[in-house]
Amino acid sequence: MERANITLFPRGRVTMNQKKLRTFVFHFCPGVLSMDNSIIDGSTATRIHSLLYKAEKIVITCHVSPDGDAIGSSLALSQVLKAMGKHVHVVTPDTPPRPLMFLKDADRIVVASRWTDKARTLIKSADLIFCLDFNSLARLDRLADAMREAECPKVMIDHHLEPEDWATVIISRPDMSSTCVLLYHLLVRLGFESRLDKDGAECIYTGMMTDTGHFTYNSNDPDIYIVIARLMSKGIDKNEIYRRVFNTHSLSSIRISSYALYRKMQILPEHKAALITLTGDELKEFGYEKGDTEGLVNVPLSIPGVVYSVFMREDEPDYVKISTRSVGEFPVNKLCERYFSGGGHLNAAGGEYHGSLSQAVSFYLSVAAEFDSYIGD
Ligand code: 5GP
Ligand code: MN
Repeated sequence: MERANITLFPRGRVTMNQKKLRTFVFHFCPGVLSMDNSIIDGSTATRIHSLLYKAEKIVITCHVSPDGDAIGSSLALSQVLKAMGKHVHVVTPDTPPRPLMFLKDADRIVVASRWTDKARTLIKSADLIFCLDFNSLARLDRLADAMREAECPKVMIDHHLEPEDWATVIISRPDMSSTCVLLYHLLVRLGFESRLDKDGAECIYTGMMTDTGHFTYNSNDPDIYIVIARLMSKGIDKNEIYRRVFNTHSLSSIRISSYALYRKMQILPEHKAALITLTGDELKEFGYEKGDTEGLVNVPLSIPGVVYSVFMREDEPDYVKISTRSVGEFPVNKLCERYFSGGGHLNAAGGEYHGSLSQAVSFYLSVAAEFDSYIGD
């Protein structure tokens, strides 16, 4: 496998000429920063080429409660396919988080919770559907039935464990840190990378950044940084993307997160766990809006001795959304799969509980000891 030869250029002060030379190299000599080319095999690329050749009306969809990776990959792919003259719609089960609305064409997404009939009709009449960042139909929530009924070919592009077998082409790479980086590899393999412009590169970078907590976990593969270098050569401003996605908070979000950490966080030393809960009444009191608690579940992991963190939010009466994060080898996906009808990754997973918040807490406390063997000494 070829890897980057970044030392070609010296560190330190970069003169204008060196900058120009770098840009030239990134554009015209991509071999200098070669990526891992083994990620997408040739036969998969050929199949997708032929599916695309036959398709006019294309739908791209992603999982419910879409995150930066789901939205970023969907929008980037839609922009590339539109540039090829295809008729493309991005359809999501529910609304994207507000901090992602700066991404190009985010305002054109057909959100099924608002435009249910339009979303279903688009899915049922598509010639080809791309399913990004999920591998289980249940993750499509209210769109799952329409997807089951859609007769056209479906291409799954995803990095979650254990894909279900419902798509025509399955590109499943749980070893990749994000669907966005996987999609980038696919675009290169298909020969479409030149169609990805600055806006598309911003979308890809956003997903790579959000699924790795701004490259603080699941991010030791050098290939990630080769892809980033190539995205930057398209003119993206990664500092500005960070500011817009992570450093922009509404007043309600700051207040609710501060309150949750001050009043509602329990440390459970026997399980090396932290538990944060928010009731429906508390959400109402703080004027909670979707996305306001994004990132909250990560905060307890900065406390020495805390190995995993569980956040329970009572979204509706008798419906609790669960979000979990961990460090090291603690498998929060197992906890969510086994007890909260969910799943995800080793260090970031989620699920749900049907019942009251206090029942969800009691239930978690009753099973927590089962996972103590993963917490280390
Ligand atoms: P978050 O905590 O940010 O909502 O989700 C973190 C990760 O957990 C997501 O990227 C997704 O992989 C997974 N996840 C979250 N909620 C669910 C769920 O209800 N079901 C499943 N299968 N996975 C989930
Ligand atoms: Mn993802």
